[in-house]
Amino acid sequence: MLLETPKFEELKTPAVQSIHCPNCGSFAKRHRLASERTQTECPTCDYFMLTCSRTGSVLEAYAPGLWVR
Ligand SMILES: [Zn+2]
Repeated sequence: MLLETPKFEELKTPAVQSIHCPNCGSFAKRHRLASERTQTECPTCDYFMLTCSRTGSVLEAYAPGLWVR
């Protein structure tokens, strides 16, 4: 048998990951929320994105650098 996938833990543990902001490249945080939603937020540029991790669709997004231009 290959590696077991930690499915159970992933579902019940609200995880926070450090990622690079897709908008400005600074460090941002990715939170895994309930209902299979993932929230990405960047304190540097106010980038915000809420996606559904099951379908991959964007539920809500806000990126100041993109809209202000
Ligand atoms: Zn940013």
